[in-house]
Amino acid sequence: MNNKELIDLLEKTRHLDRQQWIALLESYTDEDRAYAAHKAAQTAVKVFGKEIFIRGIVEFSNVCRNDCYYCGIRKSNANCERYRLTKEQILDCCDAGYEYGFRTFVLQSGEDKSFTTDKLCDIVGSIKKAHPDCAVTLSVGELEYEDYKRLFDAGADRYLLRHETANPEHYRKLHPSDMSWQRRMDCLKQLKEIGYQTGCGMMVGAPYQTVEDIADDLMFVERFKPEMIGMGPFIPHKDTPFKDKPAGSYELTLFLISLCRLMLPDCLIPATTALGTIRPDGREHGVMAGANVIMPNLSPMNVRKKYLLYDGKICTGDESAQCRACLERRMESIGYKVIITRGDHKSYDKDSSLR
Ligand code: SAH
Repeated sequence: MNNKELIDLLEKTRHLDRQQWIALLESYTDEDRAYAAHKAAQTAVKVFGKEIFIRGIVEFSNVCRNDCYYCGIRKSNANCERYRLTKEQILDCCDAGYEYGFRTFVLQSGEDKSFTTDKLCDIVGSIKKAHPDCAVTLSVGELEYEDYKRLFDAGADRYLLRHETANPEHYRKLHPSDMSWQRRMDCLKQLKEIGYQTGCGMMVGAPYQTVEDIADDLMFVERFKPEMIGMGPFIPHKDTPFKDKPAGSYELTLFLISLCRLMLPDCLIPATTALGTIRPDGREHGVMAGANVIMPNLSPMNVRKKYLLYDGKICTGDESAQCRACLERRMESIGYKVIITRGDHKSYDKDSSLR
């Protein structure tokens, strides 16, 4: 089978076997990529129309107990100026975001144990009380089942926890030995079981990543059936062990967005900030390759430059209102419209009003 036939097969059956994934990833051309992007964008339009969901991210702490080799806020980075937002600051960000039309707030941070589950439950509950028509997404890393459950019961709707890699050996090359691939996988399973709309994902072009690893990532995505998939290119950060590693491929990131869209048509797939960082119009191209979500920053201006997972991150100098307007323009320039909605995954849409 040639690559176009493989892409047709994926569109039709939503499945490729390992050998087929590997063959496709080893030999795709720009033309194959354009072919997949066209089909993926058509698929996204069938599900979502020409409408883009937005989520406001509040990066509420860059304190982290982990030491991931790729990440700029890893605990060993002494050059990282640490900060924590107060509950009031977080709520202020959400209030401002509500005015700009955000109906999902994503709370993201390093693994900062000073934000206990009690504290986080209080914050989530307060956001939901102030804005009952909004969804809250958490992205705060690995917790115990009990904690995930309590946060869910406090009102959190979604959880982003990238699996980072489906290959445990690859995982060990990206993380110190006190971090466990199995634990991360267990967390993902628990999140789904509890009832979160759950997001997995990986960095494209992470150091030591092979074509086989990506095939395994795609097969994991097929099995796990996440409601969301976050994928962006790896971008080196100057104060990490991976500072000299090359950035991930822009083209491959777009191709993988298209392949994931064809595999899981209903999935919520963002055109990530990292994609917009390696190319000025990366997020537009992400949407044209099948993404349907954009996640601009709602963090206070004075902390934005401190939440740097990688070098060169965009939008660290803009006010939230500017970001919002800029994205609206960008989406309009390619014929899409940013809409004011929670933007739940289809299978959660009817339940959400009952919770
Ligand atoms: N601490 C939380 C959330 C913050 S990290 C957690 O572990 O889930 C969010 C994501 O940023 C990570 O999952 C990783 O995939 C991505 N990331 C980290 N460093 C990066 C880098 N140098 N380039 C691109 N993406 C990176």
